[in-house]
Amino acid sequence: MPIGDRLLPPHEALDIVLRHSRPLPTELVPLEAAGDRVLAEPLIADQDLPPFPAATMDGFAVIAADGSPWREIIGEQFAGQPLPVEVTPGTAVRITTGAPLPPGSDAVVPVEQTELRDDHVVIRQEVVRVGENVRPVGADLRRGQVLIEAGTPLGPAEIGLLASLGRVTVPVFRRPRLSVMSTGDELVDPGQEPGPGQIRDSNRFSLVVAARRAGAEVVWSGRAPDEVAALRRLLEERIAASDIVVTSGGVSVGERDFVKEILGELGTVHFRRLFMKPGKPLNFATVGDTLVFGLPGNPVSALVGFEIFVTAALRVMAGRRDVQPRPVPVVLTHEIESGDRLEYQRGVVWADEAGVLHARNTGPQASARLLSLVGANAFLLIPPREQPYRAGERVMAIIRGPIGPAPG
Ligand code: AMP
Ligand code: MG
Repeated sequence: MPIGDRLLPPHEALDIVLRHSRPLPTELVPLEAAGDRVLAEPLIADQDLPPFPAATMDGFAVIAADGSPWREIIGEQFAGQPLPVEVTPGTAVRITTGAPLPPGSDAVVPVEQTELRDDHVVIRQEVVRVGENVRPVGADLRRGQVLIEAGTPLGPAEIGLLASLGRVTVPVFRRPRLSVMSTGDELVDPGQEPGPGQIRDSNRFSLVVAARRAGAEVVWSGRAPDEVAALRRLLEERIAASDIVVTSGGVSVGERDFVKEILGELGTVHFRRLFMKPGKPLNFATVGDTLVFGLPGNPVSALVGFEIFVTAALRVMAGRRDVQPRPVPVVLTHEIESGDRLEYQRGVVWADEAGVLHARNTGPQASARLLSLVGANAFLLIPPREQPYRAGERVMAIIRGPIGPAPG
């Protein structure tokens, strides 16, 4: 059921988007290509690691209970090949970090605690304990242990774990195929000189980067005219070839804003207008299994709408379990006027020495001013109310980038 012209609160809109988003089928990819993909099955250890007791320091493998300070050096054990020697009382084997402990030995004395005398080593450490400087079998992980849950994005550490367990192919969710379409007769390519009344198309480029960052495979990006037949044809074509289609422009109340009409004809429109600034006119529709987001044309509105709604859908489709960021409280350092809708002000959040988060906005918050997003590591959530928000007051913020020291 299309929701008429009620301004929908963003959290309700997000619920609707999530209800229509489903994880995509899974596929096997080579380990080398699995970075930043989302694991589709839990990773369970099928072996102990390390598989052998290993030295954690360069030094000498010894028998801990052997009291004599002098030991005969009977070999050198490097990482790689086990040496066929056995450590017996009165002997030691030189050993490097990561090398397997030779049979008979049960501790490693670090080289700093020793002195070399001809073919002997003098142990200066008074007491050597069993297992000292040794990583026992299974110390890092145990066979049968669940190491990574399904739905986890594979970062450097996760890829390293897969490699150390010998997984050369990895089950992951298919990446969502996404198309980006700019609409507007006033738009020209960045390489073109705009004529009178024309502007350069920035949304196509900013949204492609936002989509890739959010884990989408961008299968197409292009521009459509403000003309019903051509727009409709292009939309149908892209919807057929994509899991998600993102358009910008043409969802307002102008004469030539055709996107919203066409979406209503092609599929089901779930919402059109949000109780949100920037981004009041934001259409969400489904056509078959494809999600279509009709983002506003203003560059900031388009990017904020993408980040809040499209990113959530992409995460569900990509199989992720962490779908929505949890807002955190921040302390305003200056007064902020409240508006008539829930505002997503672009802000800078930093931490003081006590760990308290402080925030300021990025200056003028006009929906066309892309500069308001540059350097913004947070959205400051400013609900409407009578009085302005005062310096020192707390508001909630969605953190979208690393938190640094106080800005200069
Ligand atoms: P619209 O929603 O189509 O009325 O567009 C709203 C505003 O955003 C207008 O000022 C447009 O010129 C501008 N705009 C629309 N599409 C783009 C785009 N792809 N890049 C930059 N600005 C745009
Ligand atoms: Mg337009």
